[in-house]
Amino acid sequence: MITFDFIKAAPKTDLHLHLDGSVRLQTLVELAKENKVLLPSYTEDGLKQLVFKDTYRDLGEYLHGFQYTCAVMQTAEALERVGYELAVDNILEGVRYIEVRFAPQLHINASLSAIDVLQSVHRGLARAAAEENARLEVQNGEIPKFHFGIIVCALRMFNEKFSSYYKKLLQVCAHTKARAVFGIASMELAQLAVAIRDENEIPIVGFDLAGQEMGYPAEDHREAFGYAHRYFLKKTIHAGEAYGPESIFQAITECNADRIGHGMHLLNYAMIQDKSITDPRKYIEDLSQYIADRRITVEICLTSNMQTNQNLKDLAKHPLGMMIQRRLSTTICTDNRTVSNTTVSDEIWKAVQTFAITPRVLRNIIIYGFKRSFFPGSYLEKRAYVRGVIDYYDKMASAHLGPHAVGPEDDMPDSE
Ligand SMILES: [Zn+2]
Repeated sequence: MITFDFIKAAPKTDLHLHLDGSVRLQTLVELAKENKVLLPSYTEDGLKQLVFKDTYRDLGEYLHGFQYTCAVMQTAEALERVGYELAVDNILEGVRYIEVRFAPQLHINASLSAIDVLQSVHRGLARAAAEENARLEVQNGEIPKFHFGIIVCALRMFNEKFSSYYKKLLQVCAHTKARAVFGIASMELAQLAVAIRDENEIPIVGFDLAGQEMGYPAEDHREAFGYAHRYFLKKTIHAGEAYGPESIFQAITECNADRIGHGMHLLNYAMIQDKSITDPRKYIEDLSQYIADRRITVEICLTSNMQTNQNLKDLAKHPLGMMIQRRLSTTICTDNRTVSNTTVSDEIWKAVQTFAITPRVLRNIIIYGFKRSFFPGSYLEKRAYVRGVIDYYDKMASAHLGPHAVGPEDDMPDSE
């Protein structure tokens, strides 16, 4: 039987993990005091009551906490600390690979350049990884090493309150339509991400589009995604979180998304708003077949989806069950460890309990996280790493769950 302890001990990934949504509350309080940032409370309990709740009224309330975390993450020291602690928290629950995402343009200010922002976060993550991997070296065991990549987020929309950088951009582009300015910001981000990756050996592995989906389509960011594509940055896009399947279609076709963040409404034909789609049921059939066949991985964030979708009252109604039946490639992620008050182990445990996931399916889901990662090394290095993870997982699983938990995957043969 799959137990929580098994999940915690198993090697895991988190491919959808926001840095600014995962700041330790104690750290938030300390950094706020240091940097004179006003918080509604300076205790963990107080913050949990007022801001970082278990349930939220709507997406607006869910997003409220980010203004405080972003406000304290405006110095090199703060960014490094938050990066370091995030990696440590993951290591402590057996996560072996993370892709940390954030919007650098929210942290750029008069005394902090884009390169400062990325270098600071990288320093923190790299320090935690080096400490952990040195510890494993001494142990001389078979536990897979800890690795990480960085994903930069462009925003579908922003306003002057988001950051001093965005404010300045809106001011100098005063005669440009807002949606065009959002595209300009994305294009600038794509170019700086590629330049910084190439010149500084920072493992920037992916380009993401986050923020309000309704009214702000991915097509505004086509040029930026085209640039990222040309320079071999992988792409993931928040889509189908608060809008219909056509948003997922656009992410894949207009922006070459390799993975989809959330994809909650992928199978929900009732959410389709595009009037040119005359047969909505056939459309979602075709779309989900395409996603399955191309092995475009859906980053599933159960707790976060429950907290931001008022209509989803019962987790059993979450489409993950249907996605597993359709053999889509899915990976379980936290989205925001602090804002959603969760961990990777908690999320996987929730999935196992709610969708009666078998040991074989659990193995697939966990291994997909490693296989579909935007691993920063070469393809051969990635293969060797994933092979090591699979061997380690199988050994653990056959000892704890029995021989039926391992063996060849029960889906199409897949590259490793
Ligand atoms: Zn997200």
